[in-house]
Amino acid sequence: MNSSAPRPATLCAHGGQRHEARKGNQPLQPAIAQTAVFELGTAADAEAIFSHARDGYAYSRFGNPSVDALATLLAELEGGAGALVTSSGNAATLCAITTALDGRTGPLVTHPDIYGGSFELLRILSSVYRVAVEFADPSREETWLAAVSRAGAVLVETPSNPLMRLIDIERTAQTARIAGAPVIVDNTVATPMNQQPLSRGADWVVHSSTKYLNGHADMIGGCLVSREPLTSRHRAIHKNLGGTVNALDAWLVHRGLRTFPLRMEAHNRNGTAIAEWLQQRREIARVFYPGLPSHPQADLFRRQMSHGGGLLSFELKGGEPAALRFIDRLRLIVHAVSLGGTETLATRPSKTSHRGMTPEARQQAGIGDGLIRLALGIEAVEDVIDDLEQAISET
Ligand code: PLP
Repeated sequence: MNSSAPRPATLCAHGGQRHEARKGNQPLQPAIAQTAVFELGTAADAEAIFSHARDGYAYSRFGNPSVDALATLLAELEGGAGALVTSSGNAATLCAITTALDGRTGPLVTHPDIYGGSFELLRILSSVYRVAVEFADPSREETWLAAVSRAGAVLVETPSNPLMRLIDIERTAQTARIAGAPVIVDNTVATPMNQQPLSRGADWVVHSSTKYLNGHADMIGGCLVSREPLTSRHRAIHKNLGGTVNALDAWLVHRGLRTFPLRMEAHNRNGTAIAEWLQQRREIARVFYPGLPSHPQADLFRRQMSHGGGLLSFELKGGEPAALRFIDRLRLIVHAVSLGGTETLATRPSKTSHRGMTPEARQQAGIGDGLIRLALGIEAVEDVIDDLEQAISET
């Protein structure tokens, strides 16, 4: 084995810490640097730190050892050259959009079926700051690539939350490159275990680390990972937008990452098993899961992703009334927003995560009131099936 490139499971199990870097007789787990400020030392030390002549810390919004340890591991997992850690997924999206559009004049091109919070953020950016945002439909390839070729930057979410539609990262990035437009991929739903956007030509990956990366639903956080080395301009935008993370939350993601590959195996297994189970039930009208051979983009799935992940959506034949009954009957599955934790969660996106979209935008995105989203956890799949069985029953 090449000791300089451990596999993801090994990298995560060691929290990104390399044998060569271990100093001996130190805490095995990294300390939580719970501080706002750092002593600067002498006047010469302060000058060296602030002029970046040498590494050092001054103030936790600018940098913090707990946050840096997490950033190093995140960059490695995504195959990037650097990562910036943020206080939420939305803060990461804002920071990525700002860096990607910096110095560019074209619009931000994206698609309507993105996470509802990202959609709301874009509406605020366009109404308050007059950022030009153009929505195009990636399923109409010619129109999509034409929009990408005019873009200042491109934001895609693939698979999209909650409809699990895929966007061809490679084709999008090829067109965007000619236009000089950076491509940002929200990789929250797929995770770096199932999809590596940077290796397909994306420039930035963003995450809500609240989800699979932390994996325990006990903090809110995000990150952006860059294919190219981070510049002082990127760091300046990150620190001055202000959405940096605190040491404890960074530590919680770092701790969660130790079991991330193992957890993803269970999420992938349960996602596939439940999608297959739902698909054969007569009560179910449609299942949206990229790992199903019947998914309309099965070819792209095979090229772009290694596994289908833990998120899926479905519609019951009984429509909205059946969806309401389903939610109220759940016994094991928890009626709650979010995804990526250990427990299986169910929601109706039109009434929760995507409520802030206009009804027209929801309709355009295909998010109806009867749609149910399941975020599979890591439980024994038989128990999840038992609960689904009694909840979808028409009697
Ligand atoms: N991106 C996706 C795909 C999400 O599902 C979410 C949250 O659900 C976000 C971004 C925003 O993340 P956060 O809630 O951590 O700000």
